[in-house]
Amino acid sequence: MKQPKIGERLRTRAVAVALCVGCVCGGALASSTPGQVVELTDSERAYLSVHNPVSLCVDPDWWPFEVIDDAGRYKGIAAELLALVSERTGVRFVVHATPNWEAAVAASKSGQCLVMSFLNRTPDRDQWLRFTQPVLIDPNVLITREEHPFIADLAALKGATIALPKATAMHERITREFPNLRVLDTHSEPESLGWVSEHRADMTLRSLIVAAHTIKTGGWFNLKISGLIPGYENRLAMGVLHSETTLLAILEKGVASLTDDDRRQAVDKHVSMKVVTEVKRDYTLAIGLGLLLLSVLATSLWWMRKLRAINRQLKDMAQTDPLTGLLNRNGLHESFASDVARALRHGRPMAVILLDIDHFKRINDELGHLVGDKVLVELGALVKRTIRGVDTVCRWGGEEFVVICHETPLLQAQALAERLLQAARAQTFAASRPVTLSAGVTDLVLGDTPDTLVQRADEAMYQAKHAGRDRVCVQAASGPASGPSSVSQAS
Ligand code: GH3
Ligand code: MG
Ligand code: MG
Repeated sequence: MKQPKIGERLRTRAVAVALCVGCVCGGALASSTPGQVVELTDSERAYLSVHNPVSLCVDPDWWPFEVIDDAGRYKGIAAELLALVSERTGVRFVVHATPNWEAAVAASKSGQCLVMSFLNRTPDRDQWLRFTQPVLIDPNVLITREEHPFIADLAALKGATIALPKATAMHERITREFPNLRVLDTHSEPESLGWVSEHRADMTLRSLIVAAHTIKTGGWFNLKISGLIPGYENRLAMGVLHSETTLLAILEKGVASLTDDDRRQAVDKHVSMKVVTEVKRDYTLAIGLGLLLLSVLATSLWWMRKLRAINRQLKDMAQTDPLTGLLNRNGLHESFASDVARALRHGRPMAVILLDIDHFKRINDELGHLVGDKVLVELGALVKRTIRGVDTVCRWGGEEFVVICHETPLLQAQALAERLLQAARAQTFAASRPVTLSAGVTDLVLGDTPDTLVQRADEAMYQAKHAGRDRVCVQAASGPASGPSSVSQAS
């Protein structure tokens, strides 16, 4: 995730300085092996003989990924990896320094640099850049305060606030893909973290590498990593101007030559950098601590995955009726409210059927609870196979079932209720006696909520009971069910 940074130190140094990556990252160059030099075609070699050195725009303040230090040197994980690409392909990068990320993007757009070093692909950036395969893939993690529970499913959090820097790839995606969240605009990643720490936002999203580094070095002791969103990795690649197709092909070869070891070494070197200074250049201890940090990161990732799975199981258990295997009221609750809101917003029809077994108590009293249980299971299965796949059935409680009929007008729902009653009449239950149902049907009108809908269906169901049971009653929102047309007698 490329986030604009506001670094006073860098903003004041507004002059563009040209730096040669090969010159400033000698250590990285020495670590590559000659066997990894890539083969170039004649036309690629010809391109380089004319275009070398190649101008490179970078984020000057995105530690530990990349930074231009006080002495004007390009450093960080990206600098290490690009130096390897540089050595293996023969592309010599010259950094076109800018005061901040926005200026780097503007310079790239106006053609002042042919390559952008290390950024996520977005539809906006596709307009002027083509991207190599990722130079580095780094998961994005959710960061909350210490007391926040583990986040198993971001889509299930209603109304939670998430602080994200404006105009970034992740701001664009989260806003689009998680309408259940309230996105709060900030100007930088540190500001986002600050908002979470100060209770102004519930969470933020950040690269695992940057988060591990910043939480540790920045003293954000009330923050923690609380989860990750699958598919939300930072796929940090080089972006090349559309016009430079040969350069893109050369850099692709360079990126393909990067090994897992190359990447690990580049990350280790910079994520453990703070530790090295603290132990006064005791490299043995620094390496040990670096490895420890990495293993902690790996373990937390593993735990996050495991906790996710456990949380999903717990959620399923909390939302499922153990007897019938149908959704329970709690399980319906989540989708019901959003289904009602969506249907109202788009003016789509929706209906609700409430089914209640007639004289069920007698089955329990006369045949025992176990037989009663079997009847409930059989009826649950009957309802499930009689409704359409798109409809939702839930065991509302006791011997009552609710069916949510999506995209269904009242008359169609009434016909479905009739079919359900008919199917019950036709089935031989464990009770070895006829089992009949009373049903109340209603449809969605403006101003409805899940509660008002179920309440109307319940009233209609009681009318069916009073009218003699084993029948369907319909209650439109405008008034009580009445007249023979709304009541179907048992056949
Ligand atoms: P009505 O036609 O008016 O609906 O009469 P009813 O007997 O069906 O209704 P009532 O509310 O008097 O009784 C419902 C019964 O359902 C009482 C309760 O013991 C039984 N019940 C609720 N949950 C379960 C369950 O999980 N298993 C069994 N076996 N019985 C249950
Ligand atoms: Mg009942
Ligand atoms: Mg009943």
